[in-house]
Amino acid sequence: MSRPHAVLIPYPAQGHVTPLLHLAKVLHSRGFYVTFVNSEYNHRRLLRSRGEDSLAGLDDFQFETIPDGLPPIENEDVTQDVPALCTSFATHGAALFRDLLARVDDGRPPVSCVVTDGVMSFALEVAGERGVPALVFWTTSACGFMGYLHFFELIERGYVPLKDESCLTNGYLDTALDWVAGMPGIRLRDFPSFVRTTDRNDVMLNFDGGEAQNAHRAQGIILNTFDAVEQDVVDALRRIFPRVYTVGPLPAFAVTAARARPELDAIGGNLWKEDASCLRWLDDRQPGSVVYVNFGSITVMSPAHLAEFAWGLARCGRPFLWVIRPDLVAGDKAVLPEEFLAETKDRGIFLSWCPQEQVLGHPATGLFLTHSGWNSTLESICADVPMVCWPFFAEQTTNCRYACAEWGIGLEIDSDVRREEVARLVLEATDGEKGKDMRAKATMWKEKAEAAAEAGGTSTLGIDRLVAFLLGGTD
Ligand code: UDP
Repeated sequence: MSRPHAVLIPYPAQGHVTPLLHLAKVLHSRGFYVTFVNSEYNHRRLLRSRGEDSLAGLDDFQFETIPDGLPPIENEDVTQDVPALCTSFATHGAALFRDLLARVDDGRPPVSCVVTDGVMSFALEVAGERGVPALVFWTTSACGFMGYLHFFELIERGYVPLKDESCLTNGYLDTALDWVAGMPGIRLRDFPSFVRTTDRNDVMLNFDGGEAQNAHRAQGIILNTFDAVEQDVVDALRRIFPRVYTVGPLPAFAVTAARARPELDAIGGNLWKEDASCLRWLDDRQPGSVVYVNFGSITVMSPAHLAEFAWGLARCGRPFLWVIRPDLVAGDKAVLPEEFLAETKDRGIFLSWCPQEQVLGHPATGLFLTHSGWNSTLESICADVPMVCWPFFAEQTTNCRYACAEWGIGLEIDSDVRREEVARLVLEATDGEKGKDMRAKATMWKEKAEAAAEAGGTSTLGIDRLVAFLLGGTD
């Protein structure tokens, strides 16, 4: 019998490439030949940020590319337009993927299974044509996925689209929805942000709502979470879908996989060049003293909000490490006020991209000011670091709700951020009674994450079951 061959295809954005690459390494460590599919755009970015070696692959871990269909741009070091990418792949993805599968059959073991990103569901149909099993990997939290799964029901029940813009501010979003399985107490405002539209034809509302429904056509669903942290939602999902594999936190498993095959370490998925010099700066700081500020790969803010964050950090008096992507500020370069830079020069550093897991894992890091992306949230949990949350879009609003109200490890900042609030919440989370409680809970969740990834833990068993299913056996 030939070796099992898994083809994995992420949606081409940082928060998707990273977890799919982790899963690819895990499958490789379980004996699979791996083909990992990047967009041509991201492949070029990875070559620039990490060098040829990172994509040379191994004999049995290969990279392939497909075009994303977007017009070329001069500066390729920027996050692409999300709705445009979604629409492009929904239109052209199946044909491109069909060609790709025909190509990778040449000289490699025959493709035996496909793992596609939850928002690249076109691959399910193509895998079906070839008669190989296909699973979707939703790179969101389970609660975020459950939110998307209810988009069309929210429309049917008349909650969405919003009647008019006033619904955004008149308390309508606080409407509690008691019928969403596994999410008691959830409010409309906690759903992925794409419900905040007055347009029934809104691209992201329809795209994500449709892709979530397409999960019913997959033979299984993979989630980068662990049961204990989202038990009610995971249980509810298991009542809806026959196979739900919870395999997180994936970074922990990817590290173990790379230990067995050190060459896997060279394979990385960061689209920006990491600046690791900040780790030395952290070495010189007191344990738990540093506020780490990073809004991920997609968040865009106004110059006014950037200034509010800056002055909030100045006011709280804490050392901080602030990652400011070159394209963080809408339509402009991120320019920080001169007086702020002068005032904080001895206790703040700025960089454009960092090795986040190492920064979070550094003993000096005590708090994460985050946009509540799912990977960031999970990495924060694994590092035992509480959060101050400023969700930007998508299911970040749902993750923020869970971090603050369910897990007790986050404090939320109003979307129209003000410097006083930044300073107040940072100090509350570090010095106050609330902070003490948050740190205790963060330690508890970290321990539960570790337990899930140990031998016999829920996620280890999840991976065992997933591998058994992909090998064609039972799960
Ligand atoms: N990341 C990183 N360095 C940075 C910023 C982000 O390595 O300076 C990584 C981070 O560790 C996470 C991913 O990029 O794995 C961001 O994913 P997330 O889901 O948190 O947010 P998104 O970028 O999708 O909004």
